Amino acid sequence: MSAEIISGTKMRQEILDELKKEVDEMKAKTGKVPGLVTILVGETPASVSYVTLKIKTAKSLGFHEIQDTQSVDITEEDLLALIEKYNTDPEIHGILIQLPLPKHIDDNKVLNAINPDKDVDGFHPVNVGRIMIGGDEAIFPPCTPAGIQEMIVRSGTETSGAEVVVVGRSNIVGKPIAIMMAQKGVGANSTVTIVHTRTKDLAGHCKRADILIVAAGVPDLVKPEWIKPGSTVIDVGVNRVGMNEKTGKAILKGDVDFEAAKEICGKITPVPGGVGPMTITMLMKNTVKSAWKHFGGK
Ligand code: NAD
Repeated sequence: MSAEIISGTKMRQEILDELKKEVDEMKAKTGKVPGLVTILVGETPASVSYVTLKIKTAKSLGFHEIQDTQSVDITEEDLLALIEKYNTDPEIHGILIQLPLPKHIDDNKVLNAINPDKDVDGFHPVNVGRIMIGGDEAIFPPCTPAGIQEMIVRSGTETSGAEVVVVGRSNIVGKPIAIMMAQKGVGANSTVTIVHTRTKDLAGHCKRADILIVAAGVPDLVKPEWIKPGSTVIDVGVNRVGMNEKTGKAILKGDVDFEAAKEICGKITPVPGGVGPMTITMLMKNTVKSAWKHFGGK
């Protein structure tokens, strides 16, 4: 029997509908709405399209949103001053810096200048530390791992005591999702193994996984025979493997051989339409959370 497909596109809509209701409730209660600023330096087409999508989503939820586009020549000092302006702006609860930044600007210096209580991307070392501590401390989980965990929970996958194998140890996906799944709490309490390029028996580890999370960036890395029957497979990989000549759009593939895997596992996320749509959604969720926190709670 073919696996249940966990659709990120469908879940995104469910979550956005819930968030819209929450924003309406916030407005009725406080007279205010969440505020999100995205800072874009230069106009690289890919960055412009990401920022546009973020702002469009924020607008659809009724946020106060600002797209602040700066010249590619902005000095690091001026960029830091701009961040400080938003750090102290009471109408703003989330600050996003679209990466990559031009070479003359130090990414880390800029990201670390964001007030951790407005860091809705969850990249500030303070928020990374909070994720490590877990519980109520973990206010801004980074958006892709948060989306992965949300998909696991909403698909009804049991996580407590489950063997979770995470392929990849990046700072934005592998490491944080591994920590989050091992914490106490809903959608967690799992036994976690992280595997990577130096792992000796990748297949052997994957075969034990009740929940297999793959974020390696290698098309079809995970073979069907590595998959435990009935398991849940979350494919984070987004690999451009060609171009559709009719549409002019890139052909995308995940890190898992989807067609073969879906005949073995119990649940699986597709690429595209799986984890991808969840990332911006979780950014919106973090911004709503931040706004409530700034308004003193629900
Ligand atoms: P990264 O390149 O920073 O890290 C990849 C990790 O995978 C590394 O830790 C590496 O050790 C491991 N790895 C690579 N090849 C391997 C192999 N052959 N065997 C075992 N381990 C291997 O990547 P990242 O930023 O974590 O992204 C991973 C993938 O997820 C990419 O395809 C990226 O496009 C995608 N991604 C998707 C989203 C989204 O959908 N929203 C967000 C972030 C990343």
